[in-house]
Amino acid sequence: MQTDKDCIFCKIVAGEIPCFKLYEDDSTLSFMDINPANEGHALVIPKEHWRNVYVVPDDLFAAVAVSVKKIAQAVQSALSPDGVNVVQANGKGAAQSVEHFHVHVLPRTLGDELKLNWGLNPGDMERIKICSETIKAAL
Ligand code: 5GP
Ligand code: ZN
Repeated sequence: MQTDKDCIFCKIVAGEIPCFKLYEDDSTLSFMDINPANEGHALVIPKEHWRNVYVVPDDLFAAVAVSVKKIAQAVQSALSPDGVNVVQANGKGAAQSVEHFHVHVLPRTLGDELKLNWGLNPGDMERIKICSETIKAAL
C-alpha cells in the first residue's frame, strides 16, 4: 500500500498517532476532525496515500464515497443537525491543508453561516470523544 512517512493521515492509518475512530473497512477510515468547524465534524479517507481527487484511483474514490454515506447517515441520526455538508478540498486555493485525499462530513446548524475556509481551531478533546461515541453508536 502506498504511504507517505511525513503524512499525518498516513500516521493515523498506521496507528502512530491517535484518533477518535468512527469506522474502518479494508480500504477506508473515518475519524473525528480535531479542529472541528462544527460539533460532529468527521473525516473519511482512503487508507492509501493519494494527494487529491485528481489522482485518487476510481475504486478508492468509490469506496470513500460509500463510507461517507455511512458516516453522514450516522451523524444525521446521532446528532440531528439541521443539515450535513459533504466537502472535499484540492490544493491550497481550495484550503486543502492535508495532502492526503479526504472528505469532510460537516454537521450544520441553521444560521451558523459556516464558510468554506472555516480555519483550523482546536476543539475540546473530551467533547470530540463524546461526540465520536454518539456517532459510533448510530453506525
Ligand atoms: P483540509 O484543510 O485539508 O480540507 O482538511 C484537513 C483536516 O484535517 C482539517 O480539518 C484538520 O483539522 C484535520 N486534521 C489535521 N491534522 C489532524 C490530526 O492530527 N488529527 C485529526 N483527527 N484531524 C486532523
Ligand atoms: Zn497520507
